[in-house]
Amino acid sequence: MNVFKKIAKFLTTTPDRTPVYWLNVQCDHCGEIIKTRINLYNDLSIHYGKKAQSDTYFCRKVIVGTQRCYRPIEVEMTFNHERKLMERQINGGKFVEEG
Ligand SMILES: [Zn+2]
Repeated sequence: MNVFKKIAKFLTTTPDRTPVYWLNVQCDHCGEIIKTRINLYNDLSIHYGKKAQSDTYFCRKVIVGTQRCYRPIEVEMTFNHERKLMERQINGGKFVEEG
């Protein structure tokens, strides 16, 4: 019996702890609030800086509402090397805070 194989299988089935960033946007046209999940690993592309601390991550999302209006809302976000949000821009909508 291969004990190590069993342990490895156990480790790979532990819950996914991938950090996510929740983005709430409101469509300029119809006012719908759309909640989108950004996966801070899979959805970001790295832009290498001169040092590890100056690396940044970039994410561009096109969000489309689920109701009658299908106008796309474009969001561009820049994160620092710790994947913390630094800058964000939106076109076609506005950012709303959760609450
Ligand atoms: Zn809309």
